[in-house]
Amino acid sequence: MTDLDKTPAATSGVMVRAEQVHKSYGLIEVLKGIDLEVRSGEVFVLVGPSGSGKSTFLRCINHLEKINAGRLWVDGDLVGYRQKGERLYELKDSEVARQRRDIGMVFQHFNLFPHMTALENVIEAPVQVKGESRADAKARGMALLERVGLAEKAKNYPSQLSGGQQQRVAIARALAMEPKLMLFDEPTSALDPELVGEVLDVMRGLADEGMTMIVVTHEMGFAREVGDALVFMDGGVVVESGNPREVLTNPQHERTRSFLSKVL
Ligand code: ADP
Ligand code: MG
Repeated sequence: MTDLDKTPAATSGVMVRAEQVHKSYGLIEVLKGIDLEVRSGEVFVLVGPSGSGKSTFLRCINHLEKINAGRLWVDGDLVGYRQKGERLYELKDSEVARQRRDIGMVFQHFNLFPHMTALENVIEAPVQVKGESRADAKARGMALLERVGLAEKAKNYPSQLSGGQQQRVAIARALAMEPKLMLFDEPTSALDPELVGEVLDVMRGLADEGMTMIVVTHEMGFAREVGDALVFMDGGVVVESGNPREVLTNPQHERTRSFLSKVL
């Protein structure tokens, strides 16, 4: 990593900032210089064809992958690094863990712990990672299940819940760590169509409460109604970005038009 002296580390009101973020797997470059900014409190929608690098970008924000070049900040902190003068130092595992704690992630395939009830799933991280007492975690966990409309399912195991219910538990579980940023990677793509709405409603509620969210989705209705900003990615680059209603109504690039014609 070079060119460290040029950029202000923190800009107020910015939750995520990416500058020329590159990521390769072996010889294959998946992210080819991503520049973008997600403002605090914003719902930031990321769309693009399969393989364009959307999941990889979210995984870089959440420390699941390391970028090869460029810079990435969350809430003013460099992801995975500390900057001293012009040099970068890798953070220790414990410091990385602390950065990750503040980021919630919801995946396409829910990824709940199958041997734990809904409530146990929700309280696991607060108890294990934050050292919260089980009693406190349970009280907060029940409130979170209530918030996603599943208080009466607290004792059910994931296999006893519908996909939409499992995904709502997964959202409650992420919220239990009181994140400042929520990442959603195609949260409704694995759901039967009739279950999509209940998950989008929970996400809409979160947005109304001011949560900063990056949402990878093919749900263009959600993008249009709830999104504050939208980026169209293709082939590891940002092709087009702007207000979701403007981009969706009047895309400027042929690649965007071609993609939208398939999903709208
Ligand atoms: P999207 O989420 O937009 O569909 P991904 O970020 O999942 O795209 O993948 C982008 C590209 O990176 C794809 O070509 C995919 O095959 C490749 N890729 C993703 N993860 C890995 C990995 N762990 N190792 C090698 N290649 C990967
Ligand atoms: Mg993906």
